[in-house]
Amino acid sequence: MKRKKNILPCPFCGSKANLFVMDSGKKDSKKYYDIECTNCGAIMLTPKQHMLSDNKLEIIEMWNKRV
Ligand SMILES: [Zn+2]
Repeated sequence: MKRKKNILPCPFCGSKANLFVMDSGKKDSKKYYDIECTNCGAIMLTPKQHMLSDNKLEIIEMWNKRV
């Protein structure tokens, strides 16, 4: 059975937050994940941190632990 991780609402405004994917735009195009609030635009990671964020579940966990 698959267990889906839920993304908690934004810690700042309580709105729904979405996971999104972007790639580096380079040839070896690696995908990066981040989470952004649909209301206030708060994001989980700084651009620099995107380089580390190829683990979807880890990003969700980080977001959920954020206070
Ligand atoms: Zn928000």
